Amino acid sequence: MKIGVSSCLLGTQCRYDGAGSKDGFVVNELAKYFELVPYCPEAMVFGTPRESIRLVDVEGEIRVISNKEHKDVTKELEDISEQLALEAFEENLCGFVFKAKSPSCGIERVKLYENNSNMCEKKAVGLFAKAVIDKQPLLPIEEDGRLNDPWLKENFLMQIFAFSDLQKFLDNNPSFKDLVEFHTSYKYLVYAKGQESYKHLGSIVANHDKRELESVLEEYKIAFLRAISQKGNINKTYNVLLHIFGYFKKLINADEKEHILTACQEYKDGIIPLIAVVKLLNLYVKRFDDKYLKVQKFLNPYPKELALRSDVKAYK
Ligand code: SF4
Repeated sequence: MKIGVSSCLLGTQCRYDGAGSKDGFVVNELAKYFELVPYCPEAMVFGTPRESIRLVDVEGEIRVISNKEHKDVTKELEDISEQLALEAFEENLCGFVFKAKSPSCGIERVKLYENNSNMCEKKAVGLFAKAVIDKQPLLPIEEDGRLNDPWLKENFLMQIFAFSDLQKFLDNNPSFKDLVEFHTSYKYLVYAKGQESYKHLGSIVANHDKRELESVLEEYKIAFLRAISQKGNINKTYNVLLHIFGYFKKLINADEKEHILTACQEYKDGIIPLIAVVKLLNLYVKRFDDKYLKVQKFLNPYPKELALRSDVKAYK
């Protein structure tokens, strides 16, 4: 699995001042699970060290201007961004981590200055980030700073692993039966993102219009990627936990029921992390050998060592 990253996040000394911006999570955690593919549009086109640049609003058009010589370098940066975005597309990436606030790599809130002034009330998207998003609007993307938020981090990682699963599934020439299996395994994970998405995906799989497999898969792919791009929250996740509990509630005694329901409520109240409830539910899945639940990605969405569900702050 490959993830694109802004090169400076790996510690590469490619920033305008010759420094890097090593990010601990990218280098120490993501690198364990993904092949990291670095991109630095500015170093490629301007070299390092170089004059710093800024985004400037010139009569409603975003231009890239160098800070000392006030040279307009928009064309150079646009061209290299287009070229690298195409290369990123051809790499079959599962996601991208960009450097925040950079006029090339920032995905939001990049300072946009007023022409001939130091005022910057407006915000924009970096040119390279924009080129990547335009080419792959449903690719999971995040910025380094935002990944310090456990909720955003959990959502991003879940999205990347689901994205990669879908890629592998589609690469294997799936049949209609395979599609039903894939869809089934993602039932509760998608449900935790949004019930509407789950219903929509279900109607695509049901294929009432008897369309060709290829067109069903194409529609499913886009709807699935949209579904997993939504952020989950405590209420939706709690709802899924209760649904899963429903599989055992007639098979267990009153004490056991109370134990599970208390755990679900404590998760909802932010007292215990999700992993505590999921571990409990997985015990019952194993005990009753429930084939339907055993394949649910919601119960095992990514390597447990990432420990993303161990933080009560990972859910809002
Ligand atoms: S933010 Fe982007 S353009 Fe700037 S140094 Fe890092 S990788 Fe290069």
